[in-house]
Amino acid sequence: MTRSDFLPFTRPSIDEPTIAAVGEVLRSGWITSGPKVREFEAQLSALFGGRPVRAMSSATGAMEVALALCNVGAGDEVITTPLSWVATANVVLRAGARPVFVDCDPRTRNIDPALIEAAITPRTRAILPVDLAGLPVDRDRLYAIAGAHKLRVIEDAAQSMGANWAGRMVGSTGDLVSISFHANKNITSAEGGCLVLNDEDEARRCELWRLQGAKKSGDSWDGMDVTLAGGKHNLTDVAACIGLGQLPHLAAFTVRRRELARRYFARFDRTLGCELPLEDYAQSNWHMFQVLLPAGAVRSVFVGHMRDAGIGVGVHYPAMHLFTLFRQLGYRPGDFPHAERIGSRTVSLPMFPAMADSDVDRVLAAMAPALAAAIAAGAEARTGAAGR
Ligand SMILES: *Cc1c(COP(=O)(O)O)cnc(C)c1O
Repeated sequence: MTRSDFLPFTRPSIDEPTIAAVGEVLRSGWITSGPKVREFEAQLSALFGGRPVRAMSSATGAMEVALALCNVGAGDEVITTPLSWVATANVVLRAGARPVFVDCDPRTRNIDPALIEAAITPRTRAILPVDLAGLPVDRDRLYAIAGAHKLRVIEDAAQSMGANWAGRMVGSTGDLVSISFHANKNITSAEGGCLVLNDEDEARRCELWRLQGAKKSGDSWDGMDVTLAGGKHNLTDVAACIGLGQLPHLAAFTVRRRELARRYFARFDRTLGCELPLEDYAQSNWHMFQVLLPAGAVRSVFVGHMRDAGIGVGVHYPAMHLFTLFRQLGYRPGDFPHAERIGSRTVSLPMFPAMADSDVDRVLAAMAPALAAAIAAGAEARTGAAGR
């Protein structure tokens, strides 16, 4: 197999005009935060119904700033899901607070809103939901709970750019919304992200947290002041230029991802015993197409066989509370059975807008032999263990 035949689980689509525009930025002499960042922010704001938006160097940075804006600090608690990229919980720890995990709904694989209220204590400051694979968390239930308990919400919408809840685009509603433009996300700036804010006053405070807390006096750094210990989270014009080249494709990317998801569902061999994701074409942006392997299949064997067949498969994500860092907070196996089951069996099949229909067919054709090998490896491990 040649390298060019390999089908990765995702790949960015960057058009030639964008590549040329990046060259222009590099030649312009202004390569870090400047006019491209301001233009990117303006276009994002227009997409989100006019809400203030600030570009950030990552969604991780956006969430760190969001927690600061919500005054989350030592002794506070933030309620979140165990099934996410570890950034979601790490930012809470870095703010000095405790991530309080609650289990997932096995249908959506997102935080189960029915379990949130029981996790609220006098120390709870915020809820940090994640739209896993681009399927939005139920915003109506989420904000009803947050409203009743006067909690802030920081939406980790890293994966849900272009998704919508009840016909309204993620980012255009709610409290603080953090979106990622990492290379693997639905639109990219290589690295980058943004934070959607409630009003201009909050956006100004966001700017302080974004860059060293430094405030100009009028137009000048002469007479500047620093009012808080901000971080270093600004986006470059080089990155913003890539993002600007992606935005016009967002709708078409989402349409294409939905088509690919439909094809996976239509042609998936249901006798293989895999658990398919929730079939949703109205709201999800199909950031990922994730199936759960049958009980007893060894995932690493499945992934290895798929790789040998020229197909990249991802694992997003092992349940976070089982990582050493979070066990140190007292979390244990068995705490969140749904998240543990999903986290131990999930695989992300190839899903990106430049995929051909025939690529889906190729993935599905490779599934049966790879699964057979994974199940055989599981059976062997069990008889081996029984014989010892
Ligand atoms: C990618 C991702 C992040 C982090 O985004 P960065 O831009 O890489 O910092 C956070 N949460 C989730 C759910 C993600 O998928």
